[in-house]
Amino acid sequence: MGIIVQKFGGTSVANAEKIRRAAERVIKTVNNGYQVVVVASARGKQTDELIADALELNPNPPKREMDQLLSTGEQQTVSLFAMALNAKGYDAISFTGGQIRMVTNSDHTKAQIQSIDAERIHKQLDQGKIVIVAGFQGIDEQGNITTLGRGGSDTSAVALAAAVGAGKCEIYTDVDGIYTTDPRIFKNAVKVDQISYDEMLEMASLGAGVMHNRAVGFGKKYDVKIQVRSSVNETEGTIITHEVPQMEGIVVSGATIQKDMAKIGMVGIDNVPGIAARIFSCLAKAKVIVSDIVQTEIGPEKANLSFMVGSADLATAKEAVEQIKDGLNCEHIFIRDDIAEISVVGVGMRSHYGVADKMFSTLSKANINIDSITTSEIRISCIVDKDQAEKALEAVCIAFELDKPAEERTKDG
Ligand code: ADP
Ligand code: ASP
Ligand code: MG
Repeated sequence: MGIIVQKFGGTSVANAEKIRRAAERVIKTVNNGYQVVVVASARGKQTDELIADALELNPNPPKREMDQLLSTGEQQTVSLFAMALNAKGYDAISFTGGQIRMVTNSDHTKAQIQSIDAERIHKQLDQGKIVIVAGFQGIDEQGNITTLGRGGSDTSAVALAAAVGAGKCEIYTDVDGIYTTDPRIFKNAVKVDQISYDEMLEMASLGAGVMHNRAVGFGKKYDVKIQVRSSVNETEGTIITHEVPQMEGIVVSGATIQKDMAKIGMVGIDNVPGIAARIFSCLAKAKVIVSDIVQTEIGPEKANLSFMVGSADLATAKEAVEQIKDGLNCEHIFIRDDIAEISVVGVGMRSHYGVADKMFSTLSKANINIDSITTSEIRISCIVDKDQAEKALEAVCIAFELDKPAEERTKDG
């Protein structure tokens, strides 16, 4: 008998009616002969509400206590889900992350999964039960509750799918699948039938909140087939899978917008060995995740360095670099939090030229200034003013024909 993991996001379990509907999906899968492990998120906007509650009492709450608090959202959903299944005559048992020993490191609010006790889950499944696991949370070696970062229930689901050997991990959400860009921002975005792990990993890391980026990384590493689909209709959704040769033919698969970020620039630092190492070891000690590092020599003795951080890490990162600023002879630190990143992603970029030209020309025609540019072999990203970001995304989507299915785009679209 095969195992399927079904993950339901916040909007898909927002109230009793929606939990009942999600439970029916699970029952249908059970009736088709599968063992089902459900992973559920907190209901509706509950995580946001809990964060607001915390900030009202303390503008800088201890991270351990944040995890203790936020994990309660998912804990409520899973027991309600089990009750809904029970009411329909199905045997179900709910677990917190700690109860299935989803062991993580101790990086509160962004913990990383280290191991999962699949045995406990198998035992319950083999007794004919539907197992419901609270997403987003784990437990560290000392028994503290941890959380995996916003959107982390996707990662719980894919990691569980890998641990129990599930044939598929279904991510049920409020959109029909993965679109060429966020359909809430660009209304004419189109759904894609399949996308490679690498493209989705880039898109998720660059702001496509439909999937938690670490979930995609797990999927690729442990070969988990991921299907993103709607919790309200029966459409097939999108399969995230290994790259197949046809994917190379599509130059740009998607575009993203990332607003929750800031740039830190260190101007006029010493141009001698060991400076970058000192800056980034101090940021690593502060547990800040950085991206888009750019260093440029501005003379034999001086260099400029800049990097991006998530908005949530800005205060910590700023404090960290300010502490070492003088030791590096840094002339000044500048911070920009009024920016956003627009990116285009596609494995086809490896074998096609002209993508950068089209991206920059499009932004130029729209009279949008580019603050900085970073690239990988399958993406081009531009930092622009936040208040121009949605206009930039729309212009880029139209230029790369992301409002049309891949087979209808012109060859260089
Ligand atoms: P859930 O609560 O089910 O986890 P999320 O809000 O985390 O749902 O993710 C779904 C949302 O992701 C969609 O409502 C959509 O606005 C957003 N999104 C961003 N980029 C994309 C994309 N490329 N394709 C589909 N949805 C996207
Ligand atoms: N409830 C958590 C959040 O809102 C985790 C998740 O939904 O994936 O971020
Ligand atoms: Mg989500």
